[in-house]
Amino acid sequence: MSQKPQSMKSVVPISTIDCTRCHAPIDPLTAEFCEDVALLCEICGLCLCHAPVSQMSDFWRLAPEQVTERWAEEWSRRWEG
Ligand SMILES: [Zn+2]
Ligand SMILES: [Zn+2]
Repeated sequence: MSQKPQSMKSVVPISTIDCTRCHAPIDPLTAEFCEDVALLCEICGLCLCHAPVSQMSDFWRLAPEQVTERWAEEWSRRWEG
C-alpha cells in the first residue's frame, strides 16, 4: 500500500534539454540547428551555443544514440555538402 510518487526523476535519461532563456524543453530529434550546429529553441529562437558547458556535456552524455546520430549527420552535411 505504499505507492511512492516518482521522486527519482534524475534516473530517467534526458531526451530533451531545457532552453537556457525561456526554459522550454527542446526536443533534440525535431529541433532545428543554428549555423554552428547547436540545437535551436523553437519558442524563443535562442541556440544552445549559449548553454553552459556543464549542461551540454550532461545532455550529450545521456543523449540517446538517435540524437547524436542526427547531430553528426547535420554536421557532416554542413562540412561535406
Ligand atoms: Zn527558448
Ligand atoms: Zn548557435
